[in-house]
Amino acid sequence: PEAITVQELAQRMAEKGADLVKALFNMGMMVTVNQTIDQDTAELLVEEFGHNLQRVSEADVDIVSTEDVDAEETLEPRPPVVTIMGHVDHGKTSLLDALRGTDVTAGEAGGITQHIGAYQITTKDKQKITFLDTPGHEAFTEMRARGANVTDIVILVVAADDGLMPQTIEAINHTKAAGVPMIVAINKIDKPEANAKKIRERLLEHEIVVEAMSGDVQDVEVSAKTKQGLDTLLEAIANQAELLELKANPDRAAEATVIEAQLDKGKGPLATVLVTRGTLKRGDIFVVGTQSGRVRALLDDKGRQIKEAGPSMPVEVLGLGGVPNAGDQLTVVENEQRAREVSAYRTEKANDKRTTSVPANFENMFSALK
Ligand code: GDP
Ligand code: MG
Repeated sequence: PEAITVQELAQRMAEKGADLVKALFNMGMMVTVNQTIDQDTAELLVEEFGHNLQRVSEADVDIVSTEDVDAEETLEPRPPVVTIMGHVDHGKTSLLDALRGTDVTAGEAGGITQHIGAYQITTKDKQKITFLDTPGHEAFTEMRARGANVTDIVILVVAADDGLMPQTIEAINHTKAAGVPMIVAINKIDKPEANAKKIRERLLEHEIVVEAMSGDVQDVEVSAKTKQGLDTLLEAIANQAELLELKANPDRAAEATVIEAQLDKGKGPLATVLVTRGTLKRGDIFVVGTQSGRVRALLDDKGRQIKEAGPSMPVEVLGLGGVPNAGDQLTVVENEQRAREVSAYRTEKANDKRTTSVPANFENMFSALK
């Protein structure tokens, strides 16, 4: 195949036919969208448009700054972000609730537990820990697939009366693939038929050697029901976090990851985000995914209005232009003009992604038409 219609080429490039016609006109060719052009001409067009993308992409690095790294001296310790995984009915939700109950600030005035997709507790040692409130490896892998690696530590919950089940093994594999350190919580230890030893042995088969077996994976016997072992689990998290030396620059324009989002009848589009660096403030102008907005209010996991949120803090954001997707990046920009530029660039990139199933290679582009 030596030729392609302008329309077909436009579709494959995810561009408008009219834009291609215009570009061809500028190159001295008068063609309509239904006419065919030869391979050389098509190649020139792709290059022409490719160059444009390149230019926007360079500008984007300045604006969105995903590639800049904060200088060492700007970094400060930040709380760990923990995800709980494990087989259905092994007690993930119960454990999340029990851990939430250990929050020493829980009794503070004005706070009522809100399920916003993540929560943060303060332990009695004044350590802060953030838990993602959406247990399960689906949420974890979905976020990872979208390039959002927000989890620092995985807690693998295994029911002591049941053992390693299919979703336990899946969770182990996902955690390993992500390179995220794991803590094993052997749950339901209050049950008479609980057998923690058997679980430690079965974990060996998956190359997880827990401390009780002289390995380096921390294991803690817990009961979400009787609250036994919760303090030990919190200590294990603190130990692991210390080893990881988690740090972020709190003193810059914020970047955050969307944990969940929805449309609220009264409040409009809402998103729970986890701040990854910088400090998100009321009034900040931002881009989230392909949408832009301005922070109208920030609510913590107890539904209280707060003025700002620093690294590892989950916060509900009001003032979005639309409902973003879980895993989307929120980036604070200096003004509305910048917000429009970034959102236009991201829209273009999103359109590009949608056509990645189309062979990027030029010969393939043609043979795909056969
Ligand atoms: P998930 O599917 O992993 O979220 O599991 P759930 O938290 O919903 O718990 C499944 C069932 O196990 C529920 O009936 C819980 O009450 C029960 N359960 C959870 N943790 C414990 C525990 O530590 N001890 C006992 N005896 N039951 C528990
Ligand atoms: Mg559950």
